[in-house]
Amino acid sequence: HRPARPHRDLVRSTCMAPCSHKYNPPIRIMQWNILAQALGEGKDGFVRCPLDALNWNERKYLILEEILTHRPDVLCLQEVDHYYDTFQPILARLGYQGSFLPKPWSPCLDVERNNGPDGCALFYRRSRFTPKATAHLRLSAMMLPTNQVAIVQTLCCRVTGRRLCVAVTHLKARSGWERLRSAQGADLLQSLCSITSRGSNRAPSSTTPLIVCGDFNAEPSEDVYKRFSCSPLGLTSAYTLLSSDGHTEPPYTTWKIRPSGESRSTLDYIWYTPAALSVESLLDIPSEEQIGPDRLPSYHYPSDHLSLMCDLSFREEPHRLL
Ligand code: NDP
Ligand code: CA
Repeated sequence: HRPARPHRDLVRSTCMAPCSHKYNPPIRIMQWNILAQALGEGKDGFVRCPLDALNWNERKYLILEEILTHRPDVLCLQEVDHYYDTFQPILARLGYQGSFLPKPWSPCLDVERNNGPDGCALFYRRSRFTPKATAHLRLSAMMLPTNQVAIVQTLCCRVTGRRLCVAVTHLKARSGWERLRSAQGADLLQSLCSITSRGSNRAPSSTTPLIVCGDFNAEPSEDVYKRFSCSPLGLTSAYTLLSSDGHTEPPYTTWKIRPSGESRSTLDYIWYTPAALSVESLLDIPSEEQIGPDRLPSYHYPSDHLSLMCDLSFREEPHRLL
């Protein structure tokens, strides 16, 4: 009697420059906080979600179905507490290379019969990319180490020969921690600056194009969002291109009901370098009706956060236009 997964359209971006895809096929990026199994069952208190819908042996197939429906070239996940026993082996057989970085003190470890710490995972399709460098970062705030992490993977696209740097992170949750999130964002931006300028002459035009996926746990009004949108890296949030004015984030990327009440917010983002990459399409945000009266997670959607997905392609390099 399970309802179907909500159907989501792939919306073509209007400001897309027409170009031949023969030698420049788009790169599909997925960002998703999949909800740690231990937190969903043991900590979150999703009072309108039946416990049955959180059963790992069924929920894992809904997560995999969402991933395999879209077959992203790069997959960025948060709250992964089943990397070694589920995602790594299954995705490896499907042609992905992965890397996992647990949080230093995962709250999953406080839950009885947990499956280990949760953390960030980054997968890329081996047939599309060769790996160049991997950085596993523990984020700092005002020089002090924090409980949040990031993975930064530098790749080389086998089709175009172009370099690409992809990062995944999950910033500190909850209200009252805005300044910590902002400091974590500043630390991540600094690391990204140094990683993307490595191996180049440090002229801004020769830095590696960047994609940063994350559950920032911050609304667009927060400091950390401003830091990312105004950084010297020149990043733009891909999902703003879905809005009618082209500058507004979606109304929500997570929607849940806890004992404290209903919480609907925009916390998840895909940042990219518009000088080097263009967004061709974005996966639409499901409507309130599709999400349903009990919100998320549910029998038909396995996480309290929505997956975000876009197709990006490399812009022509200036010297190639000559
Ligand atoms: P965060 O505040 O970043 O949150 C951790 C998780 O809780 C996130 O995945 C977040 O999900 C989720 N969350 C957010 N809001 C709520 C809510 N209202 N109710 C339930 N869950 C929520 O945690 P930290 O990384 O800073 O870790 C702190 C925790 O780590 C402590 O609570 C403690 O349990 C544990 N810890 C354990 C130690 C030990 O010795 N064992 C030492 C230090 C910490 P989302 O991002 O989706 O919002
Ligand atoms: Ca969570």
